[in-house]
Amino acid sequence: MRRIIIAIDGYAATGKSTTARGVAEALDYLHIDSGAMYRAVAWFLREKGVSTPTAEALPELLQDFTLHLEREGKEMVVYVGDRRLEEELRQPEIATFASEVSVFPVVRERLIAEQRRLGRKGGVVMDGRDIGTVVFPHAELKVFMQADLAARVERRYRELLQRGLPADKEAIARELIERDHRDETRPISPLRKAPDARILDTTHLTIPEQIAQVVTWAKELIYAPTV
Ligand code: C5P
Repeated sequence: MRRIIIAIDGYAATGKSTTARGVAEALDYLHIDSGAMYRAVAWFLREKGVSTPTAEALPELLQDFTLHLEREGKEMVVYVGDRRLEEELRQPEIATFASEVSVFPVVRERLIAEQRRLGRKGGVVMDGRDIGTVVFPHAELKVFMQADLAARVERRYRELLQRGLPADKEAIARELIERDHRDETRPISPLRKAPDARILDTTHLTIPEQIAQVVTWAKELIYAPTV
């Protein structure tokens, strides 16, 4: 059976990672959350006390940055050096900082090389911002996720409350708008729908519905007769 590459891109808080995880589980594929890799760089720089990275300083700062993803059950867990990172990467300020550091070519080149290595054999669902456009432009299935701002704010709000973190809808909306704008307007690998990506608008969808839609698309391709 063909083991395809599924690229899921889109705006923040549209449910990309949750959908990608569910699709990977349904197909018994590997899920790789590329955003977690950018967050890992942000976390690493924060630990070094860096708050405003520059293109000149980054190559040296990243010299001792080593990232690897380890499979734990069905999940890929991020390690920087021998430090296992989970909750640390899910802090809202790390998301914002990740979006700031992800504009630098030196950061993107490192992570993209690793993402391509991880996905080269297929059987992978990778979510991010540039997976269908830059990392795997030949991915068999590309999905671009979007949702109304109000739905995305609500989703993030409930997620933060569930995790026992302070949540304020106006602050969340500001953070999402600012981050999407930075991701869409950066000169390299901007967030953009690949011309051949299918749009998945999740404004009125539940998580199981989102997963089911992508699984249906994937199966159409996996079982399509090859010519
Ligand atoms: O997906 P997530 O919200 O975890 O991503 C955090 C940030 O990392 C994004 O806002 C974006 O700036 C950056 N990112 C990226 N390219 C990817 C994945 C994430 O630039 N493929």
